[in-house]
Amino acid sequence: MDEIVKAISDDGFVSVSVISSRALVERARAIHNTTPVVTAALGRTLSAASIIGSALKKSGASLTVRINGGGPAGNIIAVSDNEGNVRGFVQNPAADLPKNALGKLDVGGVVGVNGTLSVIKDFGEKEPYSGATRLVSGEIAEDFAAYFASSEQVPTACAFGVLVDRDRSVLAAGGYIVQLLPGASDGVIDSVELNVAATGAVTDVLNNGGAEALLSSVMAGFSPRVIERSNVEYRCTCSRERFRNALLSLDKAELDDMRLKGEPVEVSCQFCEAVHVYDVAELVETS
Ligand code: ZN
Repeated sequence: MDEIVKAISDDGFVSVSVISSRALVERARAIHNTTPVVTAALGRTLSAASIIGSALKKSGASLTVRINGGGPAGNIIAVSDNEGNVRGFVQNPAADLPKNALGKLDVGGVVGVNGTLSVIKDFGEKEPYSGATRLVSGEIAEDFAAYFASSEQVPTACAFGVLVDRDRSVLAAGGYIVQLLPGASDGVIDSVELNVAATGAVTDVLNNGGAEALLSSVMAGFSPRVIERSNVEYRCTCSRERFRNALLSLDKAELDDMRLKGEPVEVSCQFCEAVHVYDVAELVETS
């Protein structure tokens, strides 16, 4: 089962959130039938959104990440609830590219770098908070680090990885976000950088020891204290009623047109495989 583990260093200057997200990324892959490189792009984005969403304390709050880099994958959307349960989609799930010069999935290439990463935090009241930053590489982790530095002014290191098997299923997925709290000394910063470098590929660490091993590696020497542990999953919030309401909010001329045709109206969810079918008689305001 996928999980998020959060910890803080003994001295209180370093906080870390680690996610093991193999099952939720595999679910996203199965729903959207993504190519391996798009699975990696979407999986990294979902993993990041899950961690950031899980930090929104307010019940009912949600977080939306939108990445539009202009690459062959098109726009990537990930939405998390306040517990880190996520859903997402990508505009062109069949986009594909050869491996990059390092022999890795070319996530930066398929995402593109000509655009922005935007984060919207909706607390269900007033205007949602929204921040955006220009993409750095399209490799996702670097882009999130840049977002935190520029939009939230928090020094952040993060890494996300997705390992795809020969049959295209997801073997391992996850990552971490490490943040420095105000007052952290240069020594602390250097140690975090060394830990990040020594940790290497997150999917290797996750495969060998899960979220716990990843946390220990990133927080080596900091005597981390676990403060929260929670299970997360791929979860869509769509429902028949919700889609019906969306249909009812369409343009009046469009609705009249549907009623005139008299044929059942079919709506498919962008986030999951649900298809909702409505009889025209249902598309009449009841209240
Ligand atoms: Zn759905």
